[in-house]
Amino acid sequence: APDVRFEGVHFGYERERAILHGVDLVIPAGRTVAVVGPSGAGKSTLARLLYRFYDVGRPGDDDAARAAAGRITVEGHDIRDLTQASLRRAIGIVPQDTVLFNDTIEYNIRYGRPDATDEEVCEAARAAHILAFIERLPQGWKTVVGERGLKLSGGEKQRVAIARTLLKNPPILILDEATSALDSANERAIQAELRRLARDRTTLVIAHRLSTVVDAHEIVVLDNGRVVERGRHAELLAQG
Ligand code: ADP
Ligand code: ADP
Repeated sequence: APDVRFEGVHFGYERERAILHGVDLVIPAGRTVAVVGPSGAGKSTLARLLYRFYDVGRPGDDDAARAAAGRITVEGHDIRDLTQASLRRAIGIVPQDTVLFNDTIEYNIRYGRPDATDEEVCEAARAAHILAFIERLPQGWKTVVGERGLKLSGGEKQRVAIARTLLKNPPILILDEATSALDSANERAIQAELRRLARDRTTLVIAHRLSTVVDAHEIVVLDNGRVVERGRHAELLAQG
């Protein structure tokens, strides 16, 4: 698996307002590093930068205004030198809020791995507790697909994103509060599944609470766009 490094990363969505103030972060190959911290600290921003989310030109994006400095590397390569396609092949992301394609759930799960067999799709769907949904396809799919997208709850969409990522099987994984929208009945089982997926992968986990990232190789506490603490779970607990 490749290693991932953030080196002196500064970033702001607007010129006047920096969000990240020189973040250094190393995820050794095959390890899991967790970023925790208060809401608004910049955790998701880190995840989106690694995925080069902002290259796609979002509404309201202004390149000139996004004063970015520092670099992010994957296996020593600056991600700006990689093609978007190759970066996205290497990285799987389960975001907090998933936007699904206006198509079947099966299509949404297969996205990124159109070659996958039906068996593989079902296995991923089962692991993400979403099999009942794709089994309704194709006959029942109109019941869940609306004109303006899939009529699924936040938790269901999150499970579709998890199934897609399980199927994609990428060497690098980003879990951005990946189970935050799930009800507790699904949460524990799916967390176990995500841990299994993360085991041999280079993984960036973003979580609210320290208690959910007990077994991370390192935990980084981000506050106001700065790393204020880092260490293993027990060390951080000992420091209070
Ligand atoms: P966290 O994940 O730690 O809750 P975020 O990275 O989502 O924090 O957000 C960090 C800061 O950046 C917040 O103040 C948020 O309002 C701001 N922010 C996030 N996304 C955008 C955006 N697309 N445009 C402008 N500001 C944003
Ligand atoms: P909370 O809101 O309770 O902090 P989140 O859902 O925001 O929880 O984030 C916790 C996430 O971190 C979960 O998706 C969980 O599966 C994931 N996670 C924690 N530790 C690991 C690990 N070692 N490997 C993979 N995923 C992990």
